[in-house]
Amino acid sequence: MQAWDQLTARIHELDALGGAMALLDWDQQTYLPAGAGASRGRQSAALGRIYHERFTAPEVGTWLDALEASSLDRVQTSAVRNARRRYRRATVLPGRLVEELSHARTEGFAAWMKAREANDFTPYAAPLQRLIDLTREQAERQAAPGQHLYDALLEDYDPGSTIGELRPMFERLGRELNTFLDALAGRPHPAGFDALLDVEGQRKLSERVLTDLGFDRVHGRLDISEHPFTVGLGTDDVRITTHFHADNFLAALGGTVHECGHAMYEQGLPAQWAGTGLDKAAGMGLHESQSRFWENFIGRSPAFGRYLAPRMQGIWPTLAVSPDTLYGAMNKVERSLIRIFADEATYNLHIIARFELEVGILEGRLQAIDLPAAWDDAYRRIVGVVAPTAKDGVLQDVHWSGGAFGYFPSYTIGNLYAASFGAKIQEDLPDLHERVAHGDFAGILGWLREHVHAKGHLDDAPVLFRGVVGDRDPVEDMVAHLWNRHGTLYGVQRPG
Ligand SMILES: [Zn+2]
Repeated sequence: MQAWDQLTARIHELDALGGAMALLDWDQQTYLPAGAGASRGRQSAALGRIYHERFTAPEVGTWLDALEASSLDRVQTSAVRNARRRYRRATVLPGRLVEELSHARTEGFAAWMKAREANDFTPYAAPLQRLIDLTREQAERQAAPGQHLYDALLEDYDPGSTIGELRPMFERLGRELNTFLDALAGRPHPAGFDALLDVEGQRKLSERVLTDLGFDRVHGRLDISEHPFTVGLGTDDVRITTHFHADNFLAALGGTVHECGHAMYEQGLPAQWAGTGLDKAAGMGLHESQSRFWENFIGRSPAFGRYLAPRMQGIWPTLAVSPDTLYGAMNKVERSLIRIFADEATYNLHIIARFELEVGILEGRLQAIDLPAAWDDAYRRIVGVVAPTAKDGVLQDVHWSGGAFGYFPSYTIGNLYAASFGAKIQEDLPDLHERVAHGDFAGILGWLREHVHAKGHLDDAPVLFRGVVGDRDPVEDMVAHLWNRHGTLYGVQRPG
C-alpha cells in the first residue's frame, strides 16, 4: 500500500500548511498591527500557492488511481472518496479561471463595501455580474454529467446535499414557519433585557460558561475580534473569538455559545485519523448544527436561564435578573429585515429567500441587475417584509461579494439537523433540562461526541445525520420545537 502511505503523508503536509494559513488569518483578525496588511497578504498568498501546487500535483492523481484499483478498508474508502472529490474539483478548473475568480472576489468585495456606503446597488451590479458569470463557469466545469449546477456548488460546502432534497424541504418549512409567525403576530412580546453590563464582567462570565459547556482550554483559547469566529488549526488547537457589547449582553453571550459549539465539534473530531482527511467536519451544515444546537436549543431554553441567572448575580451582585426574564428576553420572535439579527424561526425564512434567488442565478434566470427587484419580491412572499433601502435588503450580506454562492443553505441545514439532534437527545437523556439548569453539560457533550464529533468525515453529513436520528423528520422536529418554546411565551398553541 505504497500509494496509501504517500497519500496520507501528503495530506499530513497539506493539513499543516492549512493550519499555518488559518493561523495567519486568525492573527489578522485579532492582533495584527493595522499597518502590517501588505506583508500579511504576501505571506498568505505564498502559502496558498504552495498548498494549491502540492494538492493538485499529478502524483496525487496517480496515488488516487492506484488506491481506487485496490481493495480498501472502510477508513481508506472514505478517505479516498473525499480526496478524489476535492482533487477533481480543484484540477478541473483552468489556472486562468482560478485567477479571474480570485481577482473578481477582491473587486466584488470592494464594490460591495462602496455600494453599502452609498446605500445604492448600482456600483455593485457589474462586479457582481462578473462573479456570477465566473461562478457559473466554475459550476459547469465542476458538475458531473447531468448534475444541477447548484449541486456542483453545494458540494463544496455540504457534500451529499442536493437541490432535489432541499427544495421541497425548504418549501414545506417556509409554509410551516409562516403559519407559526402569523399566529404570534400582534401578541405582546416578552420583556427585553437591556441592562448595561461591564465588559470585564461579561468576559469573566463568558470564560466561565465556556468552561462549563466543555470547551477544552488546554487545547483552545478565547480572544476578541470584530466579528466572532472559530478556527481549528488542528484538533489540539481550536480558537474562538467573541465581541462584547456593554448594552447587549445576551447577544454577545449567544455569539460566544454559538462559537463554542463550533469549537467543541472541532475539538471532538477524531485525532486518530489525522492524515486521512477524515479528522474534519462532514460539512458546513453539520458544523452549523453544532453551533446552533448550543446557541438555540440549549442556550435559549428555560433551563439555561436557570443556570445563567445565579451566575450573573455572582458577577453583578446588585443586578435584578430572574431565569424567566432571561428566557423571555432570549426568545422574542418577529418578522425582520436583517438575517444576522433574526430570531430562531425567522432566520430560516431569510435563508429560504436567498436559496430561491441563488437557484435562479445558477439556472440563468436572474442576472445581477435583476436582484434588487427579485430580492424585494422574494422577501415580500417568503419573509413578509420589504426593505426600505438597499442596505437593509439586497446589500446586507457579504457572501455573494466573495463569490460564495451555495453557502447559505448550510445555515438552515444546520438548524434542521440541530432540531432532530435536540429531539433525539431529549429521548436519550430525559433529565436533560435538569442537567442544564445545574450546569452539568457533560452528558450532552458526551452524546454529541459519540454520535457526531467522533465520526469525523467518514460519511457525508446527510448519511451521518440519518445514522444518528433514523427516520425523524427534521422539519417537524423544528416546527414542534418552535411552537413549544415560543408558544408558551406568546400564549398560543399549535393548531391541532
Ligand atoms: Zn456558525
